Amino acid sequence: MGHIIAIDGPSGAGKSTISKLLAERLGYMYIDTGAMYRTAALLALEAGIPLADGQRVARLCKDLEFSFRVDGDLVHVLCDGRDVTEAIRTHDMGMHASDVSKNPEVREALVALQRALGRKHDAILEGRDIGTVVFPDADVKFFLDASLEERARRRYKELREKGETVSLEEVKETMRKRDINDSQRDIAPLRPAEDAIRVDTTGKDIPTVINELILHIKERIS
Ligand code: C5P
Repeated sequence: MGHIIAIDGPSGAGKSTISKLLAERLGYMYIDTGAMYRTAALLALEAGIPLADGQRVARLCKDLEFSFRVDGDLVHVLCDGRDVTEAIRTHDMGMHASDVSKNPEVREALVALQRALGRKHDAILEGRDIGTVVFPDADVKFFLDASLEERARRRYKELREKGETVSLEEVKETMRKRDINDSQRDIAPLRPAEDAIRVDTTGKDIPTVINELILHIKERIS
């Protein structure tokens, strides 16, 4: 097994941007586990399966093949060869993913896929439960966080750039609900692993955060 770096935290904390850049810098494989929950929600909606029907959604997910192709700033998410990037990166699909991810059967199916993918290479996995559940023995674990205000502003900017017509207030409110959803669910709630390095990204630019993380990684992985 290669090295594993876990990057957890709430949405808008900077996980995706940071994980992608780190993966490029270190030559690691990048695995976006949030994209996998988003895809599970997308496939369930397309198949007319209620998001709360854990068993049927899990059956859909069991043998999916995911890959992540970093292309500059963009990461293409491929699921069984289909590029789902645009379909899953919407405001609504974030909330649907949060709903679908409450089902234990769905989590079990996707965690199995995440472990299989991560074991193949040196990998950076970003999500909510990587350091606590998926890879509790990860070589380095980070928990990125930032104030709700700043996280909402970042996500709002991203969505507007993609042409979505949402208001900042709407984004902030959904984010607040998703935080509660994700941190209060019974299984694999969003929380830092005991041995995670906590990094607050509020007011920090990307290169600053990357350099901070690289220092920690160098200390732990030679
Ligand atoms: O990171 P992203 O916003 O794409 O994740 C979408 C949703 O998927 C999260 O709100 C969370 O409910 C769920 N998720 C999860 N466990 C992960 C990654 C994401 O439950 N490891």
